[in-house]
Amino acid sequence: MGAAKLRNYIGGEWVEAQTVEYAEVIDPARGKLLARVPLSTSADVERAVKSAAEAFPDWRNTPPAARARYLFRLKELMEDRFDELAEIQTREHGKTIDESRGETRRGIEQVEVASAIPTLMQGCNLEDIAAAGIDEHCFFQPVGVFSHIAPFNFPFMAPLWFVPYAIAAGNTFVVKPSPRVPLSQTRVVELFEEIDLPPGVLNMVHGANEATNAILHHPDVAGVTFVGSTAVGRDIIYKSCGETGKRVIAQCGAKNFIVVLEDCDLEKSMAGLMTSFFGNTGQRCLAGANLVLVGSDSFRQRAVDAFIGAAAAIRVGDGMDGSVQMGPLQNAASKQRVIGYIETGIREGAQLALDGRKLRLSDPDLPQDCFLNPSVFVDVTPQMTIAREEIFGPVACILRAADLDQAIDMIHESPYGNSAAIYTSSGRAAQKFRHDVKCGNIGVNVGVPAPMAFFPFGGMKDSFFGSLHGQGKDAIRSFTDPKVVVERWF
Ligand code: NAD
Repeated sequence: MGAAKLRNYIGGEWVEAQTVEYAEVIDPARGKLLARVPLSTSADVERAVKSAAEAFPDWRNTPPAARARYLFRLKELMEDRFDELAEIQTREHGKTIDESRGETRRGIEQVEVASAIPTLMQGCNLEDIAAAGIDEHCFFQPVGVFSHIAPFNFPFMAPLWFVPYAIAAGNTFVVKPSPRVPLSQTRVVELFEEIDLPPGVLNMVHGANEATNAILHHPDVAGVTFVGSTAVGRDIIYKSCGETGKRVIAQCGAKNFIVVLEDCDLEKSMAGLMTSFFGNTGQRCLAGANLVLVGSDSFRQRAVDAFIGAAAAIRVGDGMDGSVQMGPLQNAASKQRVIGYIETGIREGAQLALDGRKLRLSDPDLPQDCFLNPSVFVDVTPQMTIAREEIFGPVACILRAADLDQAIDMIHESPYGNSAAIYTSSGRAAQKFRHDVKCGNIGVNVGVPAPMAFFPFGGMKDSFFGSLHGQGKDAIRSFTDPKVVVERWF
C-alpha cells in the first residue's frame, strides 16, 4: 500500500501496463519502498512500437533544426530540475549524491551534443565524379523505430547515450528502463512530455525479460541499443538482432585493469584510484577491478599500504548524506553476489587484506542488507576467479607484474576489453600502453576514462557487440542510413 504504481508512457499518454506482475523499487540505503514497477507484457510493447511507428513519418519530416529545439528545451528543464534528478538517482540506486550530480551532468551533456543535429547529420557531396555534370551526394536519413534496454547502474545517463541522438536524427523510440531503477527515466520522460514532444516520438515501457524479448522480436523495431552484462548482451541481444536483421549496439560487461608503475606519483594518484575502484560502489563498467603493480618490492609494499589505508578510510553510508563517499550496493542480491566472490577469493588462496564484510557505516542504524565496505585482496594471481570475472562491487584485487609487457599480457588474457589505465610519469610507457592495449577506453593517470559525449563510448572483445558505438558522431551514423544519389541533368 502507499507506494506509487508506475505506468508506461505510450503515444503521449500515461497508461497502465497490461500485467498483474509488479516488482518493488526499494531505496537500498534506507530499505524504504519507493514505487512498484510493472513487468510489462508483449502486448504493452506491441502498443508502444505501434505508436512509435505511427509517429515516425511526421517526425522524420520535421526539420532537424526544429527537432533540435525540443532538445534545447529539454536541456533547460533538466538544468532547472538538476538537484531533483540527482536525488532520484541516489534514492533508487544508492550512489552518493555527488556521484548522482556527476551522472546528471554527463547525461545533460548528451542532450547538448545531440542538439547539434543540423550539423552532425550533414552528408557529403562531390561534383563531376565520372564526367563533367555528374555529381554525387550522400544524405543521412532516419531509419525508423529504435529501442534501448537499460542497465541498473546508470539509471539517468545510460539511456541518454542513445535517446537524444536517435530522436534528433528523426527516428522514434521505445525505452525500457531497468526494473531495478525505473524512477529516473520516468522523470526524464515526464520532462519530454513537458516540452511537448509530439506523441509517439518517445515511448517508455517498464519491464524485464518479457518486455526485452518482445522488443527484440518486433518486426517494426529497426535497431536495439543495449547496456548491461555480457551474458545478456552477447547471448540474447546481439544474437537475436543478428537473426532478425536489426542493427545493434550492445555495450557489455568489463574487468578493468589499472597498471601502476613505480615511477608514478603515488600520492597524487591515490584519489583517482579510490574513485576508480570504489566509486559508484564498484558498480561501473569503467571501474578499476585489478590493480597491477609493477616495480620493486619496496614500491609494491608502499603502494599496497597506501591503497589499503585510503580504502579503509572511505566513509560508507546513505548517499544522501553529503559526507558519505560510498553508498550501498543497489540491492541485497548484489551484496550477496559480491560476498560470494569474496568467499571464492579466500578459498582460492588470495589474501583478504581489507574485509569489507565487517561493516563500518556512517550511521550504525542503517539497515545492512545492501551495504559493504571496500574490500582489498592481495597476492591475487590472474588465474583466480576474482581476477577473471566481473564482480561489480567494491572489491579490489592487487596483482604483481614483472614489467609493463607482462602487465599488458595480463590485460590481453582477459576476455573483456572495456577500459584500462596506466599510472606513470613516463611518456614512453604511457604511449606504449595506449598504443598496444586492446581496450576501448584508455586512461593515462586517469582511473575512470569515461569518454565525453562528443566521443564514441568505446569497448572491445566481450565488452562490446555491434559495429558503430553510442554517443557523438558514431551515434548519428548508428541511427541513420546513408543514401547516395548520383545526379546528372540533360
Ligand atoms: P543486465 O544484463 O542484468 O540487465 C540489463 C538489461 O537487460 C535490463 O534492462 C534487464 O531488464 C534486461 N535483461 C536482463 N536479463 C535479461 C534476460 N534474461 N532476458 C531479457 N532481458 C534481460 O545488466 P545490469 O545488471 O542491469 O547492469 C550491469 C552490467 O552492465 C555490468 O555487466 C556492467 O559492466 C554493464 N555495463 C556496461 C556498460 C558499458 O558501457 N559497457 C555501461 C554500464 C553497465
